[in-house]
Amino acid sequence: MSAVEALFSLVPQLGEGSKPSSEYVLIRCPFHGGGMEHTPSCSVSKLAPVFFCHSCLESGHISRLFKLAGLGRDSIDRILRSTGMGGASGPAGLARDIKQNVDLYRGTFILDDAILDTYRLAPEELLRKGYEKKTLRHFEVGFDYTNLRITFPLRNVYGQLVGVSGRTVVAGMEPRYKIYVEELRRRPDVKIPDDYSMDSTKKAVLWHAHVVRPFLFRSNDPIIITEGFKACMWTYQSGFENVTALVGLSLSKQHAELIATATKQVYLFLDNNTAGLLGTFIAGDKLLAVGREVFVMKYPDDRGQPDDLNEIEIEDAYINAVPYLTWREQHGKQYIYENENRRRNWRASRQNPV
Ligand SMILES: [Zn+2]
Repeated sequence: MSAVEALFSLVPQLGEGSKPSSEYVLIRCPFHGGGMEHTPSCSVSKLAPVFFCHSCLESGHISRLFKLAGLGRDSIDRILRSTGMGGASGPAGLARDIKQNVDLYRGTFILDDAILDTYRLAPEELLRKGYEKKTLRHFEVGFDYTNLRITFPLRNVYGQLVGVSGRTVVAGMEPRYKIYVEELRRRPDVKIPDDYSMDSTKKAVLWHAHVVRPFLFRSNDPIIITEGFKACMWTYQSGFENVTALVGLSLSKQHAELIATATKQVYLFLDNNTAGLLGTFIAGDKLLAVGREVFVMKYPDDRGQPDDLNEIEIEDAYINAVPYLTWREQHGKQYIYENENRRRNWRASRQNPV
């Protein structure tokens, strides 16, 4: 018996007219209308022990629903354990994490145009980290409360939606990123190719390029390339509007060609770690090959990614950027070492498959 079925057996009226999908069950919300609403509007997740009401916006851990049904703590624990939603046999860490952070799942409506029908909420996690609502709105970032994921729309250079990536806000939940495919197929205005894959999408999409490129055509300003959504939004919020992001780790030939049609100068601002180092070499070489002038932005030593830097520090990183060829000379030995390491690990993993 699932947790929702257990709830229905306790309070049958909540289950009347309920609608299940693969990821959640819509039930009559017990927090408004006396639990008697005509059209059930409270989503109870099948994937995590949480609920969210689309009408009254009440949300929280599923144990609250059982408490309302009159159960005590021990009985609730027993039910959650038996349904794999908590206790010793279930993902207890997950449940605890959700309990502690439950208001991370509360969102505030910010998007006028929903990316997908339900993703109009601002992710509380990013607001707390200092991302402004207007930044999140600009980048169309939403929150999917059914799957508890921050949603990032992926658009091609013409601005057409070609995918959505959803990062979990629950520590340890796998996969960390959900790729929305079925949800997009249901939308008449989105064309998802039959052979849709995240790998090909990553190679094609340079995040935010559809906004940046038209400006670059006119101004010929430099473009900044970061690694990942957060780095891109943070750099943008710090005053650099011509910023884009790699969705994966490395710049593709398609990216290089796209950039070559947009502007002459490129500033690389990947993460300050091994992956960023390798990514900078790959990107730098490819961009030189298409005839661009390439610079590498300089981090203060102890910082790992753009969102570790404040506005002034990002400005400094830009002003102190070094030409890629100089940077390449400085980091050549480190590159050879890290690259050899990576190859060795790869070979080892092939010889001893887990
Ligand atoms: Zn409600």
